[in-house]
Amino acid sequence: MDNLTPMMKQYKKIKERYKDSILFFRLGDFYEMFFDDAIIASKELEIALTQRDAGNNLKAPMCGVPYHVSDVYISKLVKKGYKVAICEQLEDPSTAKGLVERDVIRVVTPGTITDTNVLDEKSNNFLASIYMDSWGAGISYVDSSTGEMYTTEVLIKDERIIYDFVLDELGKISPSEIICNSDFLKNKKILKTIKNRINPYINSYDTKSIEEVDWEKNLLSHFKSNGLEDLGIEGKMYCIASAGKLIDYLYNTQKGSLNHISSLEYYDINEYMIMDINTRINLEIHETIMTREKKGALIWLLDKTSTAMGGRLLKNWLEQPLIHIDKIKKRQKFVQLFLEDIILMDKVKDCLKNIYDLERLAGKISYGNCNARDLYSLKISIGHIPELKSLLFNSDKKEFVELGMELDSLQDIYQLLDISIVDNPPITLKEGGLIKSGYNKDLDELKNISRTGKQLLTNLEIEEKEKTGIKNLRIGFNKISGYYFEVTKSYINLVPDYFIRKQTLTNSERYHTKELKELEAKILGAEDKIIEIEYNLFNQIREKVKMEIERIQGISKLISQIDVLNSLAQVAYENNYVMPKLNDKGIIKIIEGRHPVVEATLSNGYFVPNDTYMDNHDNKIQIITGPNMAGKSTYMRQVAIIILMAQIGSFIPAKEADICIIDRIFTRIGASDNLSQGESTFMVEMNEVANIIKNATKNSLIILDEVGRGTSTYDGLSIAWSVVEYIAENIGAKTLFATHYHELVDLENKLKGVKNLTILVEEKGDEIIFLRKIVEGSTNKSYGIQVAKLAGIDNKIIDRANEILQQIEKSNLSTPKSNVVQENKQLNFLDYKKDYFIDKVKNLNVNHLTPIEAINILFELVEEA
Ligand code: ADP
Repeated sequence: MDNLTPMMKQYKKIKERYKDSILFFRLGDFYEMFFDDAIIASKELEIALTQRDAGNNLKAPMCGVPYHVSDVYISKLVKKGYKVAICEQLEDPSTAKGLVERDVIRVVTPGTITDTNVLDEKSNNFLASIYMDSWGAGISYVDSSTGEMYTTEVLIKDERIIYDFVLDELGKISPSEIICNSDFLKNKKILKTIKNRINPYINSYDTKSIEEVDWEKNLLSHFKSNGLEDLGIEGKMYCIASAGKLIDYLYNTQKGSLNHISSLEYYDINEYMIMDINTRINLEIHETIMTREKKGALIWLLDKTSTAMGGRLLKNWLEQPLIHIDKIKKRQKFVQLFLEDIILMDKVKDCLKNIYDLERLAGKISYGNCNARDLYSLKISIGHIPELKSLLFNSDKKEFVELGMELDSLQDIYQLLDISIVDNPPITLKEGGLIKSGYNKDLDELKNISRTGKQLLTNLEIEEKEKTGIKNLRIGFNKISGYYFEVTKSYINLVPDYFIRKQTLTNSERYHTKELKELEAKILGAEDKIIEIEYNLFNQIREKVKMEIERIQGISKLISQIDVLNSLAQVAYENNYVMPKLNDKGIIKIIEGRHPVVEATLSNGYFVPNDTYMDNHDNKIQIITGPNMAGKSTYMRQVAIIILMAQIGSFIPAKEADICIIDRIFTRIGASDNLSQGESTFMVEMNEVANIIKNATKNSLIILDEVGRGTSTYDGLSIAWSVVEYIAENIGAKTLFATHYHELVDLENKLKGVKNLTILVEEKGDEIIFLRKIVEGSTNKSYGIQVAKLAGIDNKIIDRANEILQQIEKSNLSTPKSNVVQENKQLNFLDYKKDYFIDKVKNLNVNHLTPIEAINILFELVEEA
């Protein structure tokens, strides 16, 4: 270190403080990276790796990017999961004495990125903070680009429930980065699930006990609040711990203004419907399971929003459906009002299309990284608020008139921007061309000087041309030499004495004269000043707008709500949806319900609607049998999605419906993607069932698709049977259970609340036609071979399968009611690795094993067998 060059010493000192980041070290017009950072960045950014003398004959690997395009490179690295610390020159190099002072002004991390070019405009980019111990957990999260911040907590001495809570919340918010105390990372399995399902960047810090955590003051000073009761989190230790740490982290990384994060919203998880991470994936709310694309997911169908912030709000609504009837009815009311006035609905939509992302613009203004183009976009957007206001005002519906009154048209901000910022300004702030004439007297005068100076230049050129007789004499300019006369070689003999040579080129010579120099000083002096004044004026305007951030945020909240309600109305109108009634009597009655996405994407034929009736008495559990491809899964998802849509306030695909409030939806459907995590299908299934049993209530909806499939027939059937019994007798949740275990249909006669349903198929010779109609009753036919034939399996195999089936049906060796012919491999203790397994089992402390641990051990044994 001692022998390093002074600059390298400075670099090393700063890098020491930002070990986990790639340090962008400002050197003139470049950000340079050195040593390991350079090696990583040159690879990731595909830029050349060079070297720099670091002193003492040491060559430091180096790569760099021009500062004016650095955003793209920073975003690229952050998207790849790195943190980037931006180290700036803190003094003007031309006036600094000795080494220029430098320091980190911001650390860009996946959860704090604000560059709108790389953020998905219809998704939030959340940074989440988790504090967890054995008694509870708090989770707080913030979107730095929009300024929203939320917090919630759970207090319970049950580690499984605490982890479920955190997982459910993380599944909901999908953060791109997490800060957590080290205790949270203890559970490797949960960590693996988070990595696989969400894949955030994870930072951890050493756990202090909740009493020792002292981040309260961070919260109070940031929110300029006198007490925690103002923030709604008095006594909520876990909220305070997680939110306080979050603010601390933001200050350490962002360093700039965080004004736009102006409020903290506390919510109780019980105020919303809860869905676990699997359910969100299984119901294909945001992306499809197969392709992981938005197209074909529920949001793809429902999102007809016109603004980016509306798109994000709709996503948030879908992530947390309401459970209070009054709140849902309020949303329904507005959807209905738009549907009663289709012309207004379309006009509002068209008007909203002109409004840019006000929330993220507000974020940029607050951070101080907005440019003139952003302020121009803000002006254009605000310019459309009066139109929106008058559309609502002129409506004959009092609710719209009231909404119109709530809209602050922000005319003062509009006026300011309209008189100051030019139309379509450049992105750069240091090249002038930002401010309108008439806004500032000094600026106008300088512009005048610059303009007249240029006219004088033209005059001088004409004058000298005449005087010297050099026909092609012209005045040129470049940044290094300034203004010059250019004379081609053929006219050199005409050059007069007072032309002073400046530069010789191959075909010409460049000169200046006393007069040209004076003119140059005048013009360039004015232009430098213009740039400086424009830059200062721009900053003043930005500061003025910054003072109004909360008003801009307020208006953008209102606009996004109008946008989402309008979008729900558009969707209802286009797809013929109806407003569901809502009840608190535990009844789900859907007449002619449809699956909205399957209906919209069905390429041939039309969607067959089906009725659903469930209640808290004789119709709690539906056992659904029918062949593969009959439509069981579609029907079950349809019920869940209709309920979900109803609880966000949307209209639904049905002829008529009356729906009770569901507190949680659980789904146990397929598990193909978990297999890559090294868990067997059965293990995943059992984990999910355990989660359901633990968390479901009588107000929940459970969807089970072929539970028990992953083990031998008898094991599977027994588990399926006992799960249904347990739900019916101990939980009472509404349950849809699709199964190939025809034995389960007997439960209808044995257990109160169980009903059998089946999906009709028609047999035509050895073929089947799917009728897609669900009716009461059951079937013990699987039509597996017919479905295989439909799927295109070779006729020879189909014929042979029919032969085998007939033999099995005739023989007594089979298990006639079962659809699974071949049992899974079972452990045989007597003749295989006998001693090893007996020892292992003998060493188990059965009294201390939980059921899930027992299953885990069994699973390991089977794996080893
Ligand atoms: P299962 O779960 O019984 O194997 P699915 O629910 O996966 O069957 O349905 C198979 C296919 O049948 C779906 O992809 C869909 O295209 C079609 N389908 C299902 N239900 C209906 C319906 N009610 N009307 C029209 N087509 C349907």
